[in-house]
Amino acid sequence: MIFDFVSLFPESFTSYLGVSMLNRAKEDGLVSFGFVNPRDYTTDKHRTVDDTPYGGGAGMVMKPEPLFACVEDLLAKSDVSRERTRVILFSAKGKQFDQKDARRLVEDYDRLILVAGRYEGVDERVAEHLVDEELSIGEYVLTGGELPAMIVADSVTRLIPGVLGNAESVETESHTEDGVLEHPQYTKPEEFRGWKVPETLLSGHHGEIAKWRKKNSRQTIGH
Ligand code: SAM
Repeated sequence: MIFDFVSLFPESFTSYLGVSMLNRAKEDGLVSFGFVNPRDYTTDKHRTVDDTPYGGGAGMVMKPEPLFACVEDLLAKSDVSRERTRVILFSAKGKQFDQKDARRLVEDYDRLILVAGRYEGVDERVAEHLVDEELSIGEYVLTGGELPAMIVADSVTRLIPGVLGNAESVETESHTEDGVLEHPQYTKPEEFRGWKVPETLLSGHHGEIAKWRKKNSRQTIGH
């Protein structure tokens, strides 16, 4: 999977994407991370990427021209077909991202162009005419779309075959089946500060363990 992060602050991605599983996935050639700054696509002396909102109001809005030029350039240079490429804008008003979206993105696409907004948001013509979909990561407002873009890249990457050592972890973990949250997990020591690991998990009896796990998995709201 190719991830292209479109952001005014490309340096904000490096520490998170450079460690642990995401870095290993990159080194193993299972993903690639590219960073492009819309400021590099401005044409004026001041490299302007934002302007005041029409109709008045607080703050600045990201201008459409640098974002269109930047994303269109990525699309034009791509080896991946347009059908297998998804352009996503992060926005507090977008569809709320969930595990099913992560599964859909990993199965349906080979390249994700992830556009992070800043300031008071992005000129609406970007949402209407440039991107394929708008995603939110929750009902709160962040200062920028960089964290949402990394959240989507992280959850998509761990679904790519070969990224997790143990394929079973993907099948049994939270949100994988409709509305089921994974059962509680324990590791050594058997007793910590007087709190013991449930007896069934120590029994070695696979049938009983499976029953315990099923009983202790929770249904999410709405299921
Ligand atoms: N004025 C906008 C509003 O009220 O919806 C908020 C803009 S926010 C300060 C700046 C950028 O952060 C947005 O353009 C978006 O890219 C990103 N962002 C903020 N909250 C987000 C969320 N919950 N999910 C996804 N992106 C978010």
